[in-house]
Amino acid sequence: MKPIYEPKGKAKEYGDYAINIYTGCPHRCFYCFAPNVLHRDRETFHNHVEPRPYIVEAVKDQLEHDQINGKLIHLCFTCDPYPTGYDSTPTREIIKLLKAHGNHVQILTKGDGSRDFDLLDEEDSYGVSVSSFKTMEPVSVYAYRSPYEKQAIAPYARIAMAEEAKRAGIKTWISLEPVVDEDVLKGVACFSNTFDKVKIGKLNYFPSDINWSAFGLKAEEMCKTLGIDYYIKESLRAEMEVQP
Ligand code: SF4
Repeated sequence: MKPIYEPKGKAKEYGDYAINIYTGCPHRCFYCFAPNVLHRDRETFHNHVEPRPYIVEAVKDQLEHDQINGKLIHLCFTCDPYPTGYDSTPTREIIKLLKAHGNHVQILTKGDGSRDFDLLDEEDSYGVSVSSFKTMEPVSVYAYRSPYEKQAIAPYARIAMAEEAKRAGIKTWISLEPVVDEDVLKGVACFSNTFDKVKIGKLNYFPSDINWSAFGLKAEEMCKTLGIDYYIKESLRAEMEVQP
């Protein structure tokens, strides 16, 4: 098994190399594409989460045999590197191995990755994924769990982790993909100082009331006005080229 791979298609827009550490993910995002990609039953994917067999050993072997160094490696596409409620020690061990071979990591999570901030530096990137900032009063925003990602930590708690990462000198980014509510832009405006980069992508494969062309143009205008480094995913960029 060679767990370090070069993503293709839409995933390629996120990084040149990636590793998927776990067999499933408990976060239950309604839009999750991973069961389709992995040809797995959705319930099994969300209920049976464990490290892929011998994943740490396989990463170690591949790093040594293929001499992979100086790369930015994305964690993860078909799972979350910090599955809430599960032991993320394999993620920690893999980060140690990647760093020991001179690589850097680009994390993307809806969980809590703060346990590994001590392993990261200014060449690494800690990213959180948020599809909506809608809050449900009177629940505290930090306790609120998104109805779209029922078992992930609260969106505002993810932001708090990113703020902690930034204070620790780690690069931070936010992935607004897929956007479920247009109000994500208000959230990004509020936290524009927290993130070094924002990546924005549309909801694919599910119906949405959002006018993607207008949304994309608004998002781009906001990023330019606030001086935010941004990237618009190709499928959203294509919509923006159509008149709103
Ligand atoms: S965090 Fe990612 S892998 Fe996990 S359920 Fe959500 S979309 Fe799927």
